[in-house]
Amino acid sequence: SRLNQKPVFARAPVYGEKLGIIDSSGNHSYKQLYCRSLGLANRIGTALSSDFGGLEGKRVSFLCANDASYTVAQWATWMSGGTAVPLYRKHPSAELEYIISDSQTSLLLAADPYTETLEPLAQKLGLPCLKLPPTSDLDALCEEGAQEKETAITDWADRPAMIIYTSGTTGRPKGVLHTHSSVQAMAHRDLLTLSDLIRAQVEISWVPKVQQVQCLVSEWVWSRDDVILHTLPLHHIHGVVNKLLCPLWVGATCVMLPEFHPQKVWEMLLSSKAPMVNVFMAVPTIYSKLIQYYDQHFTQPHVKDFVKAVCKERIRLMVSGSAALPLPTLQRWEEITGHTLLERYGMTEIGMALSNPLKGPRVPGAVGLPLPGVEVRIVMNNTINTTIVEGTHKETQVRAGLEGKEGELLVRGPSVFKEYFNKPQETRESFTDDGWFKTGDTAVYKDGVYWIMGRTSVDIIKSGGYKISALDVERHLLAHPDITDVAVIGAPDATWGQKVTAVVQLKRGKSMTLPELKTWAREHLGQGYS
Ligand code: ATP
Ligand code: MG
Repeated sequence: SRLNQKPVFARAPVYGEKLGIIDSSGNHSYKQLYCRSLGLANRIGTALSSDFGGLEGKRVSFLCANDASYTVAQWATWMSGGTAVPLYRKHPSAELEYIISDSQTSLLLAADPYTETLEPLAQKLGLPCLKLPPTSDLDALCEEGAQEKETAITDWADRPAMIIYTSGTTGRPKGVLHTHSSVQAMAHRDLLTLSDLIRAQVEISWVPKVQQVQCLVSEWVWSRDDVILHTLPLHHIHGVVNKLLCPLWVGATCVMLPEFHPQKVWEMLLSSKAPMVNVFMAVPTIYSKLIQYYDQHFTQPHVKDFVKAVCKERIRLMVSGSAALPLPTLQRWEEITGHTLLERYGMTEIGMALSNPLKGPRVPGAVGLPLPGVEVRIVMNNTINTTIVEGTHKETQVRAGLEGKEGELLVRGPSVFKEYFNKPQETRESFTDDGWFKTGDTAVYKDGVYWIMGRTSVDIIKSGGYKISALDVERHLLAHPDITDVAVIGAPDATWGQKVTAVVQLKRGKSMTLPELKTWAREHLGQGYS
């Protein structure tokens, strides 16, 4: 069940003048995003002396702000036939270097503010580095006649689309490689009915077989009238697929903030300036910070009434995921906004797998049922993978006598990644012999829905939605000349879910203050460690 449709950019000419992205530099129509991407794809071809669309098997790493430049870099990479490796601006240089090298990148793209970050790395690694114009001036990329250069690629399905780095129990982050087929399976379904075809007004070169694939677009009923507020980093599935590719696929509008700031988010949610936001998605830590801001600043009764009325009237969907949503956060958010957060469960390697329904009861603390196309199993590892539960979108079967039993969650389906880049052994070890991906999460099926109970390994810490390897942090801390031993754990925290906590032993005769250690850690570790 592989999808072979053209990537999202192919729809942009149809949406034309419609606003695709609004960011701090202004408005960007689909037509603009398309022509700039084509222009950049052309430059990429020239930089690597390849034909347009000839980057098969090559990686392009790019560093962009949370704005339209990201989409232009991603689309240009895809038009060129290459694989997109999004970098994160808050990663220290050593982390960027690791990702660029590990992904065997051929070309770097630096958005205007990040030339200074990438150029020294480009020199060190001997890589070409293209500089993008400022986001307000991306039209400089558009070229006369570029429109005719429509990419001639037809074999999209198995073509690598992107590599997203994620922490694992084995220490250093691994590159999770998704093909265009798995990315598309995460975001949307095939166009199955005549009315779909008419609504989309897209030329279909490949008639899909009837199949069920996972599809946030249909499950959460995305439409071109939607306006989503985007506040998450763009090197994670949550930020890239759920919040950017889904809206762009249907011709909706994505309002991008440079970074999360509670006051700014509240302003945008409550603003009556068109286009008004009607969809919001975030990690639990963000909801918790929005609640803290509300409690501090929205103290007057008429303000509270206003907030609730606006949220109830205008916003159609609010989603939480990336980490367990604490019940107090869910309840308080309901009091403040009148919205029951829709909690779903996903992972870099599999996209979204389980979700509470858009319509129908959302069970607090549970993550709902498998999305269409997703198959799940719960197995007991102590007894050579005994399957306790088998579930699909349509039905779940529990083995007699084993109701409510905990086990490891396994997932299968078209949205599952292809491989850890260049790590055949890790890839093999993460799947069962019959092709199920082992999530490392413990789950239970109870009262007709699935519940995530925790991780099978304590070496993974979830903080603010970030997945952090305790071993990786330990390795970094051990590099400090005065530290002899260290143990890193996730301590429970109301706002962050877990807080990275280190127990440190110093060399004899050495001393260190906590602020000193924190400053040192901040310089050596990526964002998400606090
Ligand atoms: P997501 O937003 O779904 O987490 P991601 O790209 O951030 O996507 P990862 O960083 O790979 O994903 O983290 C995936 C892990 O996050 C899961 O294995 C699980 O442990 C945890 N997780 C995600 N959603 C939930 C949830 N709703 N409840 C509990 N844990 C969750
Ligand atoms: Mg995450």
